[in-house]
Amino acid sequence: MTDIVEKLYRTGDLTNEEFSALIKTDDESAAELLKKYADETRRKYYGKKVFLRGLIEISSYCKNDCLYCGIRRSNKSAERYRLSREDILSCCKNGYELGFRTFVMQGGEDSFFTDEIMADIISEIRRSYPDCAITLSLGERSRESYKLFKEAGADRYLLRHEAASPELYSRLHPAELSLENRKECLFALRELGYQVGAGFMVGAPFQTVDHIICDLRFLQQLQPQMIGIGPFIPHHNTPFAEEKGGTLELTLRLLGILRLMFPRVLLPATTALGTIAPNGRELGLMTGCNVVMPNLSPVMVRKKYDLYDNKICTGEEAAECRGCLQRRIESAGYEIASERGDCVSFHNA
Ligand code: SAH
Repeated sequence: MTDIVEKLYRTGDLTNEEFSALIKTDDESAAELLKKYADETRRKYYGKKVFLRGLIEISSYCKNDCLYCGIRRSNKSAERYRLSREDILSCCKNGYELGFRTFVMQGGEDSFFTDEIMADIISEIRRSYPDCAITLSLGERSRESYKLFKEAGADRYLLRHEAASPELYSRLHPAELSLENRKECLFALRELGYQVGAGFMVGAPFQTVDHIICDLRFLQQLQPQMIGIGPFIPHHNTPFAEEKGGTLELTLRLLGILRLMFPRVLLPATTALGTIAPNGRELGLMTGCNVVMPNLSPVMVRKKYDLYDNKICTGEEAAECRGCLQRRIESAGYEIASERGDCVSFHNA
């Protein structure tokens, strides 16, 4: 099994059979070697740097009904909130003072945030913080909206593809959502010049190893600048309440594989990974991750952005979150880089 890891390290690719064997193996020496090479590779391109992204969760209203997600529209017990323009700007101000140079505005698909309202907020952030990157994660919108947001000053867009297998995609989403449209959004974003992030949940209900390989192949086709993966975690008020969550082992295995397949990619150690294990994010950093996304949302609303059960970091002020992460990053042997943190292979045309 270690020869498969050697091959992945040398060539950045494997056959489907080899990927399948590596994903499934319980050979500890292969897992160790994967981790070692993943760390070597991230250090080759990024040294010890870990980039911070300040996450601002702008709305828990969502018109979609994704079966796994706690803020799906059918969850009648979800508490809904949306931040005002002033709230969002004050999160940025707080974040800037704490050293963040990337702001990520994420939310449910909330029709309150029309193109005009969103573009106005983006241009205001762009004007106030010309040295910061602006990232959006607002789901599927029209090509025109994406274009408008880009012109207003957005640089990056995170839109996980969620599942590249049409069969799995349709089991995780309601009939009105399609993989085809999701992919079209991703290609449109790339074409408009955004730095793009895609990704999927590990251990989602019905997910098989073949589905995961399908995700890896799709990522090879898209070549995103960022890949966000984290374990699926059930939410008690969704149809998947009784399903099993994704494991730490499989998530780390896939992070290592992704680092070797995409040596220069931005790979976050996600909040979901920190939720399933107390040292999950540290282990992620030691297995190829180079990004963390601390929460900048006002503490008042944190618990309401309730995608899955037991989400961590919902009680602390942003400053405490940053301090806690700094300690975690340093304890894992890395250091915070207070910069925009662009992907080293991204050349703005
Ligand atoms: N509305 C935006 C943002 C979605 S939330 C969009 O559509 O892109 C960000 C990510 O959280 C999702 O892409 C999904 O992969 C993840 N997520 C949602 N529910 C989850 C759950 N139960 N467990 C783990 N991750 C989840």
